[in-house]
Amino acid sequence: MLAGPFPPCQFHLGQGTGYHVAPMADYFIADLHLDPRRPTVLDAFVRWLEGIVPDLGALYILGDLFEAWIGDDASDPVFDPLLDRLAGLARDHHPLYFMPGNRDFLVGDALARRAGWTALDEPARIQCYGTLVGLLHGDTFCTEDHAYQAFRAQVRNRAWQQQFLSRPPAERRAMAVAAREASQQHNAQAADFLMDVTPEAIDEFMRRENLSCLIHGHTHRPAIHHWILDNVPRTRIVLGDWYEQGRILRWDEAGYRLETVGIPPDRS
Ligand code: MN
Repeated sequence: MLAGPFPPCQFHLGQGTGYHVAPMADYFIADLHLDPRRPTVLDAFVRWLEGIVPDLGALYILGDLFEAWIGDDASDPVFDPLLDRLAGLARDHHPLYFMPGNRDFLVGDALARRAGWTALDEPARIQCYGTLVGLLHGDTFCTEDHAYQAFRAQVRNRAWQQQFLSRPPAERRAMAVAAREASQQHNAQAADFLMDVTPEAIDEFMRRENLSCLIHGHTHRPAIHHWILDNVPRTRIVLGDWYEQGRILRWDEAGYRLETVGIPPDRS
């Protein structure tokens, strides 16, 4: 077992001056499942964004930002303040990145332009304070859930997406509600191991991509896993969801840690 976080790999020192540039941090989030029916989460997220501005380097959103996304042309106005806030951060030169999840795979270029983020292909590879890190939403690792993987293959198909997006918004909304109900029923009946990643799929990915560090969401099981594979220490950071509390990963020159954000209970 490898104890503790990664050592600092990179220091942001003013070049040759000996002065520290303002300390920065990169933030990683996933599975906010933003929903007009859960306004307190949306508010808490916007407030959290305000709070991190002073040290915000890059923000990585690793999927399921939205509970459901049926097309950029059918965005709910309730999300406008958030999208304005994100666009403001991007204008102020904070790099924003978005990778879709299994709820918001129909997020497209129009929303990217609106929010000011750069779309990330899955898997993505980034350098974070000297460490090469793989980024995924995480659903592709749930390989034992064959029914889900079949559904995923269908809805990630370009022709299927174009066909879906050509339907009127009301029809799309009804289809999304039906899909969500089917998925909830499936998940309620599925064995626990189906809802988590398959360890072999993780190992295979780490080997193939030659990675020692991986960050993903989707399972809503926040944790930092350390293990040895082929004599190489590996780390898998799982981001949590935003239900009882917000969950984030903050990574700065001193290392990384999972943190929580308070969400007041819904007054409905
Ligand atoms: Mn997901």
